Amino acid sequence: RVKDEGRGTVRFFEAAMDEQLQARRRIEHELSGAIPRGELQLYYQPIVNGRTGEIETFEALIRWHHPVRGCVPPADFIPLAEQTDQIGRIGAWVLDTACAAAAAWPHPWRVSVNVSPKQFRQPGFAAGVAAVLGRHGLPPGRLVLEITEGVFIQDATMAVEVLTALRTLGVRLALDDFGTGYSSLSYLQRFKFDKIKVDQSFVRRLGRHADTLTIVRAITHLGHNLGLQVTVEGVETQEQLAMLRELGCDQMQGYLFARPAPMTELSQAGSADRERARLRALFGETSA
Ligand code: C2E
Ligand code: MG
Ligand code: MG
Ligand code: MG
Repeated sequence: RVKDEGRGTVRFFEAAMDEQLQARRRIEHELSGAIPRGELQLYYQPIVNGRTGEIETFEALIRWHHPVRGCVPPADFIPLAEQTDQIGRIGAWVLDTACAAAAAWPHPWRVSVNVSPKQFRQPGFAAGVAAVLGRHGLPPGRLVLEITEGVFIQDATMAVEVLTALRTLGVRLALDDFGTGYSSLSYLQRFKFDKIKVDQSFVRRLGRHADTLTIVRAITHLGHNLGLQVTVEGVETQEQLAMLRELGCDQMQGYLFARPAPMTELSQAGSADRERARLRALFGETSA
């Protein structure tokens, strides 16, 4: 009897796995047509100066408008795109779209683009970046590439070579999700990034765990002593803003300032100026 139940359980799991596999294949197939169907869109979220609230950069964040499932967040399809080799095409689309947008912005804001490890490791990645910048006439210094420590895992020497080639182009380089990985610190020795982005999990715990403030302070000092800019992500409350300002973080990003949104509105100069005034006021209030 026990054996029978066991077999039934196995069959049940097999069926469930089969269903999962099929769902995965379906999404994979749908994703492969998402670019030609115009279902992918970039949202942009401002990254503001940590002292003044002035907008300095916009991070491009991809969204998939699925005809049935609605707005799909990147966490639900970027990993799949990585596993199925679609990331090359999607990543190229992101880079091209973001650079085209930035070249037309009413202010010389930078655009920050996330690059997945597999995309980064593709041969000719740095040359591709150069070509995109040239095509849109975007000065290299206005592009920030956000990479994670994942790029170092397979072949750190090669990763440093690609980073160096990008640096030579004049592109800025940020180490994203800092503090969450296995050995972020050791990667700071391998390559001198322009900035680190402290993972939002730290900011989320700021008011709740006394030690978190100590850790974020230490990361900020470490970054500054290494000559790096420090950005904190996930700032949602005035209390977090006040704490982080005291630490001297160079840049901040989070729902308190703005959620990621399509760029359409902000690309009108008048509305961009209103937005800048609103953000400056947010900082004026805390310092008072
Ligand atoms: P990330 O690069 O660390 O991006 C920050 C994420 O935090 C974004 O989530 C953003 O919407 C979210 N966020 C910003 N401020 C706040 C806040 O105050 N509170 C909270 N709870 N969240 C906040 P999103 O857009 O869902 O993106 C998730 C991740 O997907 C990104 O993490 C990035 O790793 C990846 N991703 C997004 N767009 C792209 C892309 O175009 N290419 C690649 N390769 N990866 C992307
Ligand atoms: Mg990022
Ligand atoms: Mg991050
Ligand atoms: Mg992340």
